[in-house]
Amino acid sequence: MTALPIPNIELQHGTQIPQLGVGVFLVEPSETESVVSTALEVGYRHIDTAAAYGNEAEVGRAIASSGLAREDVFVTTKLWNADQARAADAFQVSLDKLQLDRVDLYLIHWPQPMFGEALGAWKALVDIAASGRAAAIGVSNFEIDHLQQLIDETGVVPAVNQIELHPLHQRRELAEFCREHGIAIEAWGPLAQGKSDLFERPELLEIARAHGKTPAQIVLRWHVQQERIIFPKTTRRERLFENADLFDFALSDAEMSVIDGYEAGTNFGPDPRTFDAR
Ligand code: NDP
Repeated sequence: MTALPIPNIELQHGTQIPQLGVGVFLVEPSETESVVSTALEVGYRHIDTAAAYGNEAEVGRAIASSGLAREDVFVTTKLWNADQARAADAFQVSLDKLQLDRVDLYLIHWPQPMFGEALGAWKALVDIAASGRAAAIGVSNFEIDHLQQLIDETGVVPAVNQIELHPLHQRRELAEFCREHGIAIEAWGPLAQGKSDLFERPELLEIARAHGKTPAQIVLRWHVQQERIIFPKTTRRERLFENADLFDFALSDAEMSVIDGYEAGTNFGPDPRTFDAR
């Protein structure tokens, strides 16, 4: 098994994360072990899961049976909303399901400002990181004021913010705040979850033709050139190859601008300010 030629991005404090991985949101538990095994076999070395996805145990089985050394696979999981007040226990449950004694990145999944528990959860994650059981810690779906609160109250800056970000929803103000604070951006839904007309847009098709790539590859390359970390979800082996074949070409400034121009403020996921699912 050979790793794909995927560059690393350096997070705060030196943790190296492969810029491209595979995400397993909405991958059925019954399918997850096979999808992750295939991804590892074709050379992916970064898996993004979450307690809420209900498939950590299957991710763990795939890693255990891969034969890969622990340090060769980057594993992210996330603290679910209902567990913010008991993060240390929830983290141990995740570790047990993953059959790991440490993860590479642990995230608070949603800010849930209406419950006021995220700060306490963040302090628990700081302790987890200090114990060496998470190489890096971060957050997901945090807006500027949510990030600012954690920084002001603890002085510990999240290593990443994993947010919905794609050509139709570019989050420029939040992205700039993250850049200024050294918070790496992980773009979830990098392909707009396949829910838009993006891949049929004539300008995008033209750019794809010019590079001999697919529209999805062009969109993923647009993320890569902005130093974002991405883990497009697919259950299809051929798309695992397609989604990783991004590192032998570059978009011009003019081509990047075309995609920049698709900003429409269109989100497909929930609003982080009001999302209160537990
Ligand atoms: P994506 O933007 O990755 O889109 C996934 C969809 O695109 C699937 O329907 C997939 O179909 C399709 N697709 C994948 N590759 C291609 C391709 N090359 N061409 C055309 N269609 C393609 O959305 P996700 O929401 O899955 O985001 C990715 C990951 O981000 C998740 O798996 C999860 O790890 C994370 N995430 C985090 C969230 C958070 O709150 N922190 C929320 C949502 C996601 P098929 O499987 O049939 O190939």
